[in-house]
Amino acid sequence: MKITKVRAVSYKVQNAMTGWKTSLGGHDTHEMIFLRVDTDEKASGVGIASPGAIFISGDTGTNHLELINNRFGPAIVGADPFDLEGIIARLDSIVHGAERAKAGIDLALHDLMGKALGVPCNRLFGGVVHPRVRVTRLMGMYEPKEMAEKSRALAERGYTALKLKVGTTVREDVERVKRVREAVGPEVTITIDFNQACSPKEAIRTVNAMEPYDVALVEQPVKATDLKGMALVRQSVSPLVMADEAVNSATEALKIVEAGAADVISLKIPKMGGIFKARKAAAVCEAAGIEYLVGTAPGSRLLDAANVHLAASLRNLRLPCEIGEFERMANDPCAGLEIVNGFSSPPERPGLGIEVDLARVGLAE
Ligand SMILES: [Mg+2]
Repeated sequence: MKITKVRAVSYKVQNAMTGWKTSLGGHDTHEMIFLRVDTDEKASGVGIASPGAIFISGDTGTNHLELINNRFGPAIVGADPFDLEGIIARLDSIVHGAERAKAGIDLALHDLMGKALGVPCNRLFGGVVHPRVRVTRLMGMYEPKEMAEKSRALAERGYTALKLKVGTTVREDVERVKRVREAVGPEVTITIDFNQACSPKEAIRTVNAMEPYDVALVEQPVKATDLKGMALVRQSVSPLVMADEAVNSATEALKIVEAGAADVISLKIPKMGGIFKARKAAAVCEAAGIEYLVGTAPGSRLLDAANVHLAASLRNLRLPCEIGEFERMANDPCAGLEIVNGFSSPPERPGLGIEVDLARVGLAE
């Protein structure tokens, strides 16, 4: 089997929960890149790339389209789609970084290989260890009262894990967590995500002031580059500390381990360059004996299907994962994944297992 054609198009997904933001900023639309890979046999695959917010990723949809259509596509036409290691090495030799665009190719190839074999794509990387994965829903940084109301609504729908975006002042952040805890009751697992907002001492002071409200996990409290500061936070607070922006690869996962900077690593398919590379970072965590979970970029069922295929395959997964953000998107062109009582299961159809409305995204031909 040989790849004959690769095409990418831009599609804007609307966030139905307006005003959503983190300590770094926010926006109500997310530009996603859908791409299609065809072969000389009947099988084809559809992937999705998430450029993310430019203030985090440095990427844009325009540069993703340029990379996929003009550089990655031509470089892999003629290749056997099952030669994944070789294809990814090829992409790495053409462009340094740009992992979010490479992740789109990786997902399309997983979809294609699964469809060619008639199996869900998790069969390509070890199968399902966790048939059901508990879902963490993300909550943007709103005023404390509004955050509590929105959180209660999610808890009432069966979600048992919430991640709250924080990072303004100690007083406000503590108030956010207090109000949410009072609204959702004692059983819900609460993560807070600072998105790098604090100095180490500020983070320690804030997290320790939240002690009565039982925060389970503290995500990226300090600058991504400040591994010493993260190690200090980790030693000074009782919740687990998770690295997100600080870890974009297996190599950076190893640096976190060496620095003792986190208890948990957030594996994300877009930032890490796809399922294949995210599993290499997962192997570093397993070898080092630190925890991981699957994080996400908000977008489509297609991306969240990839997330749940990955999460379900992770042998040491213990923590809830970010698999439900498609629910707050108003115009997802995909179907075939739903959250049931706060849990997600990998689709059983071939490939990523999602029906993509190809005409709607502009990839019907
Ligand atoms: Mg994060």
